[in-house]
Amino acid sequence: MRIKKGDKVEVIAGKDKGKRGKVLSVIPKEERVIVEGINILHRHMRPTQDMPQGGIIENEGSIHLSNVQLVCPRCDERTRFAAGYLDDGSKVRVCKKCGEDIDK
Ligand SMILES: [Zn+2]
Repeated sequence: MRIKKGDKVEVIAGKDKGKRGKVLSVIPKEERVIVEGINILHRHMRPTQDMPQGGIIENEGSIHLSNVQLVCPRCDERTRFAAGYLDDGSKVRVCKKCGEDIDK
């Protein structure tokens, strides 16, 4: 099971190493995620009629899944997670550090 939209992650490699943020979207095909406040790209805009002085637009760029690690919402630690099953048979992710159900 992978990281999902809305998960909290920590960047473990690259220029934003050590920063945390919420996953805004996942691009499964490319195994990349877009994380709030991480890997900000600045795009310089030419002046237009609406914006006569031009400007800079900030956008989050995607980063590869291997560069982030899930942060457990229960114990607030960077963690790996294991697959667990609820009584009704549905699959959940369980934090390997505190043993709590991450998806609860
Ligand atoms: Zn935990």
